[in-house]
Amino acid sequence: MADYVIPEPEPKEIDEKVSIELRHMAENAVLRGHPSGDEKCDNCRYYLEPYNDLSYCWHPKLRILVGANWWCQWWEEIPAADA
Ligand code: SF4
Repeated sequence: MADYVIPEPEPKEIDEKVSIELRHMAENAVLRGHPSGDEKCDNCRYYLEPYNDLSYCWHPKLRILVGANWWCQWWEEIPAADA
């Protein structure tokens, strides 16, 4: 019992599956971890909580957590009434 060594954590099959799914989603969205000019997630209408560095993106093709300075091809200006 004293010789038991706790195994190092390693990714499981589910992690590879989720990683591939997210990679495909990011490629479809042309998702980038940086702004495109002045366009970025925290000034996009789909960024749910613009006061947070990370927020839920409610674009129907994404629905994932994204960073305030990220960007994707589905960026849309916040409608004037909501700004
Ligand atoms: S639609 Fe694209 S740019 Fe807009 S919040 Fe979502 S990931 Fe960011």
